[in-house]
Amino acid sequence: MASKRKKKKLLLINPLSTNRQGLILHSHVIYPPIGLGIVATLTPEDWDVEILDENFERFVYREADLVGITTLTSSVTRAYELADIYREKGIPTVLGGIHASMMTDEAVLYVDAVVNGEVESVWKQLIEDFEKGQLQKVYKGKLLPFENAVYPARHLFHEKYQFASIQTTRGCPMKCDFCSVHTFNGNKYRERPVEEVLDELETIRHEKIYFVDDNLIGYGKKSERRAIALFKGMLERGIRKQWFCSASMNFADNEEVLELAARSGCVMVLLGIESERVEQLEETNKKLNIKIGIDHYDEVFAKIHKYGISVLGAFIYGLESDTPETMASRTEYINNAAIDAVQATILTPLPGTGLFNRMSTEKKIVFNNYPEDWQLYDFVDVVFNHKNMSREVFMSEVRKNWDALYNDKILKKKFLRTLKQTKNPIAAIWSYGSNLQYFNLVYEGMQPMKNLEDIFGLDKNSKEFRKSSPYR
Ligand code: SF4
Repeated sequence: MASKRKKKKLLLINPLSTNRQGLILHSHVIYPPIGLGIVATLTPEDWDVEILDENFERFVYREADLVGITTLTSSVTRAYELADIYREKGIPTVLGGIHASMMTDEAVLYVDAVVNGEVESVWKQLIEDFEKGQLQKVYKGKLLPFENAVYPARHLFHEKYQFASIQTTRGCPMKCDFCSVHTFNGNKYRERPVEEVLDELETIRHEKIYFVDDNLIGYGKKSERRAIALFKGMLERGIRKQWFCSASMNFADNEEVLELAARSGCVMVLLGIESERVEQLEETNKKLNIKIGIDHYDEVFAKIHKYGISVLGAFIYGLESDTPETMASRTEYINNAAIDAVQATILTPLPGTGLFNRMSTEKKIVFNNYPEDWQLYDFVDVVFNHKNMSREVFMSEVRKNWDALYNDKILKKKFLRTLKQTKNPIAAIWSYGSNLQYFNLVYEGMQPMKNLEDIFGLDKNSKEFRKSSPYR
């Protein structure tokens, strides 16, 4: 009797930088590796696919016929280490993700094949080539229309992820100096048909969703109508989720968007604010914020709060024109403005950005012993020479600012203010949780995540706390 042919095995790895683990110390606030989930779905059925996720488990060698690794810049040093382990045993390795796409010439030195760009158009070919023993060095993905998208194989993600992630758009027409999204996903905002997104949402069992889009609302009236249709569709189909997204300062342009977002479960929105100074927005090419106008930011926050949604503001320390004084005034601004959660990180020249290209040409980057030094590109280390501050002064000033942002007193004050302004306990909890997450990023997890019940004497099982938003 002919024996059943053994399936080939694809091992997909989500590597974790061994340098710093701040953002992942509290696993319930991180998001699953959606790219690996997509690769798993694209893999033919005569393969077994497994995900080894270093966010949750220490690497222990597992047998495989082919190994696929995804990576950010800060985790690429670890990705190359893992690739080495398999290459030594003669097992081919493939690297994809943003760093491999931006630094393909480097990546090909450490792995057998590199997926450059979006994976959908090349994975089938890569598997066929592997099966024929003809793996190519580089597979260049095309920017396909974002239609008929495959669903990530969510059953392979670690069960402890509390958020499911879903993507509804790709690409960005903006060209912020420090961002590589437009280089990786292109400068056209590609939208998935709303019905397809709704169909996928209906398959997700998690109650909490993160829309991984760089801007869920988009950049014009047409995209705004699409967002409205998406939120209405969630309501009509009875898709009851609590969700979080990134958007631009135009999130509050139309109150219909805010109302429907809130009713469909929006709890918190991340806004890339970056700086409270117009000359620094010009310096970083943050055009949309200039258009909205810094004087109108308070109105934006107030409108968002009115619908029970909290604001996670992203800011940068060490912008090229920053001084110790401007950084201190940024902190003062953040603490006084109605911003509920704060992501305040250090300017980092990531490959694929205008900033990286310029700083490299001007020889400003000091940590350039690659690939080892990539692990310092984690937004909490200084990797370049700042014209106004020595590295020591820069770091010590940033620490002072972090102390002023992420201290217990301020975080509790923010929690209570969020509660008052949003009237939404869930929004206050999510913001507080995000602040603790950033606390642990900047202080490398020096404090354990605390229970809100312990801090505020609150009962999370009370009727008030179970109601997700005053708009639902
Ligand atoms: S920071 Fe946001 S708006 Fe700017 S280029 Fe990146 S994705 Fe686009």
